[in-house]
Amino acid sequence: MGIVGAGTMGSGIAQVAAQAGAQVHVFDARDGAAQGAVDRIRSDLDRLATKGRLPADAAQAAAARLRVAPDLQAFHACDLVIEAIVEDLPAKRTLFKTLEGICGQETAFASNTSSISITAIAAALARPERVLGLHFFNPAPILPLVEVVSGHLSDLALLERAEAAIRAWGKTPVRCASTPGFIVNRVARPFYGEALRVLEVGAADAATIDLVLREAGGFKMGAFELLDLIGLDVNLAVSKSVWNAFFQDSRYRPSFLQEEMVAAGLFGRKSGRGFYRYPEGPPDPPASPFGPSPSQVQYLTESDALDPLVDRIKAAGIKVQSRKEDDPFGAGMLRVGNATVALTDGRTAAQIAYEEELTNVVTLDLARDFATTRRVALARGEDTTTAALADAVGLFRALGIEVSVIDDVPGMIVARTLAMLANEAADAVLQRVATAEAVDTAMKLGVNHPEGPLETADRLGLTLINTILTHMQGHTGDNRYRQSLLLQRKVWCGNEFR
Ligand code: NAD
Repeated sequence: MGIVGAGTMGSGIAQVAAQAGAQVHVFDARDGAAQGAVDRIRSDLDRLATKGRLPADAAQAAAARLRVAPDLQAFHACDLVIEAIVEDLPAKRTLFKTLEGICGQETAFASNTSSISITAIAAALARPERVLGLHFFNPAPILPLVEVVSGHLSDLALLERAEAAIRAWGKTPVRCASTPGFIVNRVARPFYGEALRVLEVGAADAATIDLVLREAGGFKMGAFELLDLIGLDVNLAVSKSVWNAFFQDSRYRPSFLQEEMVAAGLFGRKSGRGFYRYPEGPPDPPASPFGPSPSQVQYLTESDALDPLVDRIKAAGIKVQSRKEDDPFGAGMLRVGNATVALTDGRTAAQIAYEEELTNVVTLDLARDFATTRRVALARGEDTTTAALADAVGLFRALGIEVSVIDDVPGMIVARTLAMLANEAADAVLQRVATAEAVDTAMKLGVNHPEGPLETADRLGLTLINTILTHMQGHTGDNRYRQSLLLQRKVWCGNEFR
C-alpha cells in the first residue's frame, strides 16, 4: 500500500499498516519528510519493543516493511493508497488524478480528510467509484476507530474490502456516508456547543460546567478541558466547517465567545491559556454548599428517571412518602422541606413555578446515572427562597452527593448536552449517515464517551429527551433545538433506538 503525506496522520497510519503486515510506501512532497517520518516510526517501534509492548522480531519486521518512495511512480503496484496531505480539495483532487495515471484499475484510493466531501474529491477521477474515506483519529496507532466513508459513487465491494482491511489491522471500522463531519465530528458538536452556551449566558463558570459534565454527566473530560487540549482554534475550524457545510443551519452555529478567544490567541494548552491557564489547569472545585438533612421526602410526581434517586434516598434511611402520580413527560418532582425539587424537563425553575403554580421550585439537572452519581447541579427560581434551596441541597448532601448551584437556565448542563447529543445522533441515523449501532460505537471509540448517545437516550427515556428539546426550543425560540423526526417517531410509537 501507499501513504501520501508523512505528517502526523500519515506516519501514524503507516505505522498501523506496517505493524499489521502490509508493505508500506511513504511519499511526501517536502524533501526529507518521508525519510524523517519513517525514521521516527522505526524508533517508535524500537521503543515499543524495549518496553516489552511489542515482540522485538515483530518490531523489526514492521520497520523493514516501511519504504520511502522517491516519487509517486513507486505506487504503481499498490492495492490501496491513503492520502493524508494538506486539508485542501484541489490538492487532494490533483493527487488522485495523478495517481490514476500511475496505479492499476483496481487500486483503491482513500482519503483521510476530516471535513472534505469524499464525493467532491472523487469527482475529478475517470473512475470515482474507486474513492472512499478512511478517517483515522489522532494518534492513529492508539485510537481504535476508523470511519469508512462512502462517497456518493463509491463501489460497495470496495467499501467492504476496506472494512475488512481495517479490521485486519486491529482497528474498528464504522461505515458512514460522506456528509459534513461524518459521524464523530458531527455528533460531538453539541458537547462543546451546549457547554459554550451555558458559559456565554454566565450560568456557571467553565470549571463548574466541566465538573458537572464529568461527575454528573459521566464524561471523562469536561467540554472546556477538552477544548483546551484539542486547541480552541482547531475545534473552531471544525465547527465552522460543519456549520458552513450544512448551509449555516443554526443547529451547528459556532460560538461567538470561542471566536473571540481564538482572536485573542487563547488557543488552550498549546498557547498556555484557554479556558484555563497552564500549567495550572482547572482550579480546585469550590466546596458544596450545606443544607439541613431531611427526615422525610415526598415523591410528588413519579418518573422512571427519578426512581433510582428515590431508591438511594430510601437506602439512606430517609422516609419517602409517595403520591403515586406519574409525570407523563418523564421528569418527576420531589418535595423536601420547603423546596419542590423538579427534575429538569428543559424548563427553567421560574417557568415551572409559574406554569405549575408552585412555589420554591429548585430544578435538578439530569445525571447520567442517579444510582451512582457523585454530583448534581441545582438551580433556584427567581423567587425561590435561600432556605428552600438549602433544603434541596441538604437532601443531596445527606446522600453523600456533591452539589453545584448554577443559574436558572433551560436544560441546565447535563440534560441539554445528553438531549442534544441524542438528537444529533438521531438525525444522523435518519439521514442514513450511519446505523444507530455505528453512531454509538463511533462516539465511544472516537471521543471516549462512556455510552453511545442513543443508548443513553433509550436508557433515560425518549419522552424525557424529547420534552427537554421541546421546552428548550420554545424557551429560546432557536431552531437549534428542533427535535429530530426520528426521535419524535420513536416517542410516538413507544420504540427505542437500539
Ligand atoms: P500534517 O500537516 O501533519 O501533514 C501533512 C503532510 O502532507 C506534510 O508532511 C506535507 O508536507 C505533506 N503534503 C502536503 N501536500 C502534499 C502533496 N500535495 N503531496 C504530498 N505530500 C503533501 O497534517 P495532518 O494533521 O497529518 O493531516 C493530514 C490529513 O489528515 C488532513 O486531511 C487532515 O484533515 C486529516 N486528519 C487530521 C487529523 C489530526 O488530528 N491531525 C485527524 C484526522 C484526519
